Amino acid sequence: MNRREFLKISAALGAGGAVPTLLGGCAAPPLPGSGEVTSTPTVCNMCFWQCAGTLYQEDGKPWKVVGNPADPHCDGRLCTRGTGGIGAYLDSDRLRQPLLRVSDGDGQRFKPVSWDEAFDFIARRMGEIGEEHGRDRLALFSHGDGGKHFRRLLQAFGSHAYAHPSFAQCRGPRATAFGLTYGEGVGSPDRTDMANSRCIVLIGSHLGENLHNSQVQTFTQAIDNGATVITVDPRFSVAASKSQHWLPIKPGTDMALLLAWMNVLINEDLYDHHYVSRYCSGFEQLAEHVQSFNPEWAYLETGIKPATIRETARMMAKAAPASLVHPGRHTTWYGDDTQRCRAIAILNALLGSWGRPGGFYRQEKVKLPPYPAPKPPKPTRDWKAVVQGDYPLVATGISNQLVEHSIGPDAFIKGWFVYATNLPMTLPGATEQIKAAAESLELMVVVDTMPAEITGYADVVLPECTYLERYDELRNKPERIPTLALRMPAFEPAHQTKPAWWMAKGIAERLDLAAYFPWQDYAEVLDWQLQQVGSSLDEMQRVGIKRFDRKTAPYFGDNEAIRFATPTGTIELYSTVLADIGQDPLPRYTPPDRPPAGFYHLNYGRSPAHTFGRTINNPQLFELVPENTVWVHPSAAASLGVATGDYVLLENPDGRRSNRIRVRVTERIRPDSVFMVHGFGHSDKRQRLARGVGADDAALMHNVKIDPIAGSTGMRASFVTLVREEVS
Ligand code: SF4
Repeated sequence: MNRREFLKISAALGAGGAVPTLLGGCAAPPLPGSGEVTSTPTVCNMCFWQCAGTLYQEDGKPWKVVGNPADPHCDGRLCTRGTGGIGAYLDSDRLRQPLLRVSDGDGQRFKPVSWDEAFDFIARRMGEIGEEHGRDRLALFSHGDGGKHFRRLLQAFGSHAYAHPSFAQCRGPRATAFGLTYGEGVGSPDRTDMANSRCIVLIGSHLGENLHNSQVQTFTQAIDNGATVITVDPRFSVAASKSQHWLPIKPGTDMALLLAWMNVLINEDLYDHHYVSRYCSGFEQLAEHVQSFNPEWAYLETGIKPATIRETARMMAKAAPASLVHPGRHTTWYGDDTQRCRAIAILNALLGSWGRPGGFYRQEKVKLPPYPAPKPPKPTRDWKAVVQGDYPLVATGISNQLVEHSIGPDAFIKGWFVYATNLPMTLPGATEQIKAAAESLELMVVVDTMPAEITGYADVVLPECTYLERYDELRNKPERIPTLALRMPAFEPAHQTKPAWWMAKGIAERLDLAAYFPWQDYAEVLDWQLQQVGSSLDEMQRVGIKRFDRKTAPYFGDNEAIRFATPTGTIELYSTVLADIGQDPLPRYTPPDRPPAGFYHLNYGRSPAHTFGRTINNPQLFELVPENTVWVHPSAAASLGVATGDYVLLENPDGRRSNRIRVRVTERIRPDSVFMVHGFGHSDKRQRLARGVGADDAALMHNVKIDPIAGSTGMRASFVTLVREEVS
């Protein structure tokens, strides 16, 4: 894509009104001033997409970070948040030195301590927990690259319990559903082949506001190529503004629409017969199952007219197999989320899009050997059976289950390491549970670059340096083109901050576990790994990213025999695994809860300038989007007596109230719903910009629906009303 095309696309998406700047960094190096300009390769850590970039400095001072043109994650362009990487480095509110909670005459406070004191305290408490309760009683919560070092530390100690909130609060239902159907997941970055799609169906996916870099670029390519876009959303999102069809569905009824679409594809004989007969099993059961779910039935549930349901199903079929029903990413909505994601997976199979151009491509990564080091001992017992035995299909930790099993004197979990995840604003409606867990736990270590609500509960706070000041493991993600990308320090760590690998090694040395960290510097690990694949740290420090050849074709061959990693070796429209554990083997519709009188469905989403709550205090990004607003339909605004610009409080049916939030009256939202951007409403006073601005949606969630298959937290079943702010 050349720069002219790129600007056109940015302008097109920006026309939706909610995107101030889409993809800011450009591939060309910045024009130098009068000083000496130097550059350092990096991998952006402002979100988890991991775009490769280059940090430019002038006379040793940070200037600009831009995308690396060789990188398929970004195609030479960073998004708005990515260009804010320098803001993260310069943020004057950063954590600066290790902190230890102490009690004195004034109550509890944090005292700055040396790294030695912090490590000694942690190692002593870990030893005491191991002696008194067993060495498997610690858990890791992690969302970020450095978490793997603490995982290694805890495993070496004997504790294997861990959770990434990105599973149970985000991608878990999708991973579980696609695993059940195709034997593998969608991956990250997602394997969606949107640049080649002729029809894209977005169900509650806010592409354009949710700025996953290469996804947005391929989505805009599809729009430019004339692809049909169908958006299902109670809100007229930026993506909806680019769509041929906006289906403003009643919240919580997406499954009814998906079943009706299947009904039309099957009954009008529009599905891909050859693909289904060659690769799928359970078609007869599916065809019988969907018979009663015709568009007329779905209309009563969804509010979408039968003619629209039929027309959109025919559009998908006409474009198939280059027809992508997007799997979404944040999929924890109403509690039946694995089943809804299964319905999406099945719909794609009927269209024959999995493994086909314009649908889903095959991913590959570089075969990179691990650095030679002792393997941590195997666990002495199955922690998952203890903590989350009700969810036997889940191969990873379920964060909300780990929290539950950390409360009370008999709890299994006795200590937490929390790496780069602000649990109170991540786990819905769990503030009181986290408080209770913090009171029960015998050790809580929080590692982060910034203070946040979770650091307030810690016994020890360890300040990590930002991604521009450290090495991390090589980026090696499954994707269309296998690549390795290097993140390396452009600056010495500021203040007394340190990288995660250094901290984990330091704690391990005090526990006689140094053998598990046999490197003096993480650069040794990277260089050794790179040498195994014909490169070196020296080369990567020059180029930043290296592409490798694929070993397999990105799409299925015409007559390729494929064995899928499911029990039957087929794409399972009827899930034999779900049947075996007593769950519905075919997706079933459950009508959603409806709001009490005077309340509205609480919908939430993303701002293109922020990543959750992690970037609100970033001075560059705060300047772009300093607060969230609550979208309200004019009819609701009239009955509530509020207007655009008013400040209100949001209140849930349990009487819990938010911070003040500004009203935006707009017809772009259904009358029964409100919408707000997630991540605002910080209360930690050490975030001087973010504190007290906007409202926190997670704290208002009172009706969290647990998915019976993935154990994840359905977060879109809560309701709020607006309370006028009293002027005192
Ligand atoms: Fe950084 Fe944006 Fe890429 Fe995320 S999508 S890694 S924030 S440039």
